[in-house]
Amino acid sequence: MEQQKTDILSMTLPELTAALRAMGAPAFRAKQIFRWMHVQRVFDFAGMTDISKQFQAELDGRFCINPPKIAQKLASSLDDTVKYLCTLHDGSCVETVRMVYRHGVTACISTQVGCRMGCAFCASAPLGLVRSLTPAEMLGQIYALDADFPEQPVTGVVLMGIGEPLDNYDNVMQLLRLLSAPEGRNMSLRHVTLSTCGLVPRIRQLAGEGLPLTLSVSLHAAEDGKRSALMPVNRAYPLRELLDACAEYFRVTGRRVTFEYAVIAGKNDTDADAASLGRALRPLFPQQRPHVNLIPVNPVQGTGFAAGHAAEFQKKLEKQGINATVRRTLGADIEAACGQLRRNSLKGQGGEQH
Ligand code: SAH
Repeated sequence: MEQQKTDILSMTLPELTAALRAMGAPAFRAKQIFRWMHVQRVFDFAGMTDISKQFQAELDGRFCINPPKIAQKLASSLDDTVKYLCTLHDGSCVETVRMVYRHGVTACISTQVGCRMGCAFCASAPLGLVRSLTPAEMLGQIYALDADFPEQPVTGVVLMGIGEPLDNYDNVMQLLRLLSAPEGRNMSLRHVTLSTCGLVPRIRQLAGEGLPLTLSVSLHAAEDGKRSALMPVNRAYPLRELLDACAEYFRVTGRRVTFEYAVIAGKNDTDADAASLGRALRPLFPQQRPHVNLIPVNPVQGTGFAAGHAAEFQKKLEKQGINATVRRTLGADIEAACGQLRRNSLKGQGGEQH
């Protein structure tokens, strides 16, 4: 059996330096190779022209470079949003979205193939988790977008695609190291947002990492019974614990946590829902108003949920002392396929279970 090759695109520069030193290479070699991959975006050793053929062959014997490949593209006819289906080296696929704002280009990347959090409104939930993505597979989604629009590279990243980033904690931390490496992609983590359904111990762990990223918590209801019905994770980590963790995140990092709220008609958009949200969030951050991003739920077949009126609910929240923005629905025509591009592609392969 062929020995498994090491995923070199997932290695930080210090890790690569140590690995190459063990092969007898000089220290500058690691930097050269790191730059080939993360700056020049050359993903085969033969293309690294300042490295001898002999050492290229040695590298090839030990390491693999497996960035995701774009399999399908769906461009919005309403704005510049593009949705991608990316194929991974084992044939799995995930979705990536490129969104253009006035201040830059944001990549919405997936962190897992599928998800095991089971949210009732989500297109990925019924399919379950296949596996977590490697750091290279997450970073590679950003690189694929850079390559597709070389004139307008990605300036910000949101970990809001398929998967639960805190359920893939170590690889996500490694992704953040790679993304912010000065010798590599050199992106400030101030331009990165991590979205979670609320894995409390991991939120506390993240607070201790000392990273300047924005944490966004998917709330969707501020009353335990209701939230548990929408998000099973709430049974393990109920609201009190989740909100305490958010307060701690603010205390430790000085950064206010933001909240996502998918407005579902008749389920979480009443005056009582706004009032419970107000009670839950107002005490959270001293001297700062909490901020909620509202989005009308994308109706997913089989869930029975319909989009609520986000602007109406926004008014209800303002009365409760909560700042709320209705997320600009970029690519409204293709956004409706959130998580469903992968679902449909699985259907095509006969892999659809539901
Ligand atoms: N697992 C993470 C990140 C991926 S989901 C999280 O839960 O935050 C990204 C966002 O999309 C989350 O806020 C999630 O609740 C939301 N979402 C999932 N399905 C949706 C749908 N059908 N309509 C609107 N938002 C949805």
